[in-house]
Amino acid sequence: AEELEITNKVAGLGLKKPHDQTSDDTPDTVNPAETSLLMKIIRQGLVESKLDIEVQRKDPNSPLYSVKTFEALHLKPNLLKGVYAMGFNAPSKIQETALPTLLADPPQNMIAQSQSGTGKTAAFVLAMLSRVDSSKNYPQVLCLSPTYELAIQTGEVAAKMAKFCPEIKLKYAVRGEEVPRGTKITDHIIIGTPGKMLDWGVKFGMFDLSKIKVFVLDEADVMIDRQGHQDQCIRIHKCLPQTCQMMFFSATYGSAVMEFAEIIVPNPIIIRLLREEESLDNIKQYYVKCQSPEEKYRAICNIYGVITIGQAIIFCHTRKTASWLSEKMSKDGHSVAVLSGELTVEQRIAVLDRFRAGLEKVLITTNVLSRGIDVEQVTLVVNFDMPMDMDKKADCETYLHRIGRTGRFGKAGLAINLIDSPQAMQICSDIEAHFGKKIRLLDIEDAEEIE
Ligand code: ADP
Repeated sequence: AEELEITNKVAGLGLKKPHDQTSDDTPDTVNPAETSLLMKIIRQGLVESKLDIEVQRKDPNSPLYSVKTFEALHLKPNLLKGVYAMGFNAPSKIQETALPTLLADPPQNMIAQSQSGTGKTAAFVLAMLSRVDSSKNYPQVLCLSPTYELAIQTGEVAAKMAKFCPEIKLKYAVRGEEVPRGTKITDHIIIGTPGKMLDWGVKFGMFDLSKIKVFVLDEADVMIDRQGHQDQCIRIHKCLPQTCQMMFFSATYGSAVMEFAEIIVPNPIIIRLLREEESLDNIKQYYVKCQSPEEKYRAICNIYGVITIGQAIIFCHTRKTASWLSEKMSKDGHSVAVLSGELTVEQRIAVLDRFRAGLEKVLITTNVLSRGIDVEQVTLVVNFDMPMDMDKKADCETYLHRIGRTGRFGKAGLAINLIDSPQAMQICSDIEAHFGKKIRLLDIEDAEEIE
């Protein structure tokens, strides 16, 4: 436990934004690793799903079963104690199916895909911990994460779950962690980023890769998004023994991710938990014709004049527009928060926490946020600028993430699109056609009709 505390001290360093090259009037961008980290931190528990799990088995020899309790897994008593101490009562949906496979003897390889928040990390951390033989003082489990911060997050889950297993030692292979040359690492589990892991294992021989029993590759979709990471993972993977159990996790299931998975994981059992789709069913959608940004602003004020709004989110294309709008609204007495790409993850968490607590009524944001915050009190979403892709065509997926609601938050909502050019009008019509749901013209001088 002492070891864990020491290494955890570096965690605080991780959240600074090193260098931000986006200028204020280019479209604000989304960084998948940061988004993933943000979602992990702001999450308030398990994302439950009503949908079924889909299982593809490539190994017909081993029976596949699922469990409804943690007891049924026959964990070491102190590990089970750790699981309960975290407040977990029963396995999540993905864990019901993943855990028996991950803990099976002989070990089974697995590819698992489900959205963020469904319990993947807890599942593989439990598997990692239960595979350790603490009487042998060398690394037996490797876990690769795409960034420093994500590696620390996983390590913290492992430390918590191993609270009653102080004999299990964990080490981070991340920037800032140094091991003198010639040292042999004696910790049982190493969690880190591909570059550092490659250095320690392959380049400097600080541990013996041929003794690794479990190899976890987490956040594969974020991993392949980062330059060079995929190759580094493959180089590490090549040094692992044939008998090593491979576990591969991803929030998405694109073809690039699956090609990567095929390289890393032979004969896998593949499990997927489909995501609950957002829908526009309970949403009244309107558009308002405007001539200029000022008119767009007046349109928002008019709407506020006639209807009672709980909380609102306003989406802008650039940081420049976002800060211009927030200044104007603040001057007019609205309590406004801004969330854009130049903020650090810590700052974003603070903004979202305040908004969730209702301290601000309006959240103005750029493309850094579309999916991921489920704020129930939000009754109005405004597209100050229409969502478009790189080719300036309608970005229907982003529109749905901004406006749509999943089953859990299926309350009625209101969406207003501010249209100031033929191009924006075209995007609006394309979105309307895409979803087959009417977006009605709203005469802003006569906004009563929306209630
Ligand atoms: P993922 O890796 O898929 O993003 P996590 O494993 O991080 O998901 O789990 C999401 C959240 O749910 C975390 O806060 C975690 O502590 C919690 N959690 C995970 N498994 C369970 C469970 N079986 N019961 C209750 N909460 C859980």
